[in-house]
Amino acid sequence: MNILITGGSRGIGEACVREFCARGDRVAFLYRAQSEAAERLARETGAMAIQCDVSDSDAVTDAVAKAATFLGSIDVLVNNAGISQIKLFGDLTDRDWQKMIGTNLTGAFYVTRAVSKRMIAQQSGRIVNIGSMWGKTGASCEVHYSAAKAGLRGMTMALAKELGPSHITVNCVEPGVIDTEMNATLDEDTRRELCNATPLCRIGRAEEVAAAVCFLASDAASFITGQILGVDGGFAI
Ligand code: NDP
Repeated sequence: MNILITGGSRGIGEACVREFCARGDRVAFLYRAQSEAAERLARETGAMAIQCDVSDSDAVTDAVAKAATFLGSIDVLVNNAGISQIKLFGDLTDRDWQKMIGTNLTGAFYVTRAVSKRMIAQQSGRIVNIGSMWGKTGASCEVHYSAAKAGLRGMTMALAKELGPSHITVNCVEPGVIDTEMNATLDEDTRRELCNATPLCRIGRAEEVAAAVCFLASDAASFITGQILGVDGGFAI
């Protein structure tokens, strides 16, 4: 299969790049800033790294064209690129809000719009969005993040209906607390609290999210669409 992953240079996206490549798939991935990490990952896995800010519509059009040239076709899209920010709601600036929605929701819209045209033409495809359990439950001091991730839930369900007749599935994976740089600033007390609130009593690994993404992209998931799959150790039950 030919796979396009956004935000592939680190964390969950990197784990997806590594897992798909290990399964023998051909992978292209987008990243925003970490050129060194992206190029290293590309060398190690044979994947193609493409610098592209997903919140820039024109850049996305160019990047998807580059990826399609490298891959030949795009069978699977993983919308993973995302940012987080912890801030009181009343302190959020216009820029904070626009950057969060622009990256986590509008970015997925731009990439999916470009890729879905190709999938409709080939009458097949898989789209996996990476949401967050906070899009289901809401997180205090992360209102813009929660809103963007809740938006991805709606996008997943609506697109599943619209693209189903073209044999394209659309699903969403909602991770819980996962050990990546996104959570690097959490202090020990907060990490302990989060573990205590998780029925499986621990933080998850990026590879555990990648495994769920690979399942939804596989033949085993051919009749699954419009679904939201929590990979959160039971946190959001
Ligand atoms: P990381 O911060 O480790 O990595 C984020 C990735 O997204 C990087 O590859 C980064 O690229 C890329 N990225 C960020 N902004 C842009 C942009 N504008 N354009 C293109 N690429 C961009 O995050 P995680 O791996 O932890 O998170 C991955 C996804 O999983 C996100 O959507 C996040 O919201 C979601 N998630 C994570 C959870 C967690 O606990 N870690 C929990 C729930 C959901 P670069 O480094 O090159 O800038």
